[in-house]
Amino acid sequence: MGYLKQIDIENFKSWRGKKVIGPFMRFNCIIGTNGSGKSNVMDAISFAMGERATCLRVKHLRELIHGAHIGRPVTDTARVSMRYCDEEDKETVFCRSIVGDSSEYRINGVHVSLAKYLEALEKIGIVTKARNCLVFQGAVESIALKDPKERTKMFECISHSKEYAAEYEQKKEALMKA
Ligand code: ATP
Ligand code: MG
Repeated sequence: MGYLKQIDIENFKSWRGKKVIGPFMRFNCIIGTNGSGKSNVMDAISFAMGERATCLRVKHLRELIHGAHIGRPVTDTARVSMRYCDEEDKETVFCRSIVGDSSEYRINGVHVSLAKYLEALEKIGIVTKARNCLVFQGAVESIALKDPKERTKMFECISHSKEYAAEYEQKKEALMKA
């Protein structure tokens, strides 16, 4: 299975200028005092995974630029690159930048549309719209409080098991008849 090797950050939230976070192992733990930026690491990763601003604890993307939270953005752009390593140690770099109030997406330095970007992420098992990658602060409780049907829907979306539902029902029926 592939894994996230490193993130390269530029003027995103609490990081001024260029910063490297990693290299990560297959399992990682982030510790720090309150307000030290632990959730910002998750925000950086979700940002690079194409998450919407509202899911990143802001109304507008430009608020994610370093200093913007106090009305003094240090620049007009921010960037997060995610270095993904597959089983054969081949690296793919997914990069998202803020341009005004919209985004630019690059894969290995090549400019791509959001659709292509999300498609490439889906190929490595990241389905951003299913929000499967990250469980945000407070989300454990909200997932636990979902009604069973909603929770099932969420896991079906994450695991892609819905795609096999028809085949499953067919085989189950055939087995019952046999
Ligand atoms: P907790 O333990 O309370 O959950 P945390 O470690 O998860 O805290 P974060 O929410 O990641 O903390 O980080 C909060 C910090 O990020 C605050 O100090 C805030 O000032 C800083 N911050 C948020 N947005 C920006 C920004 N645009 N520019 C600079 N700093 C920012
Ligand atoms: Mg936090």
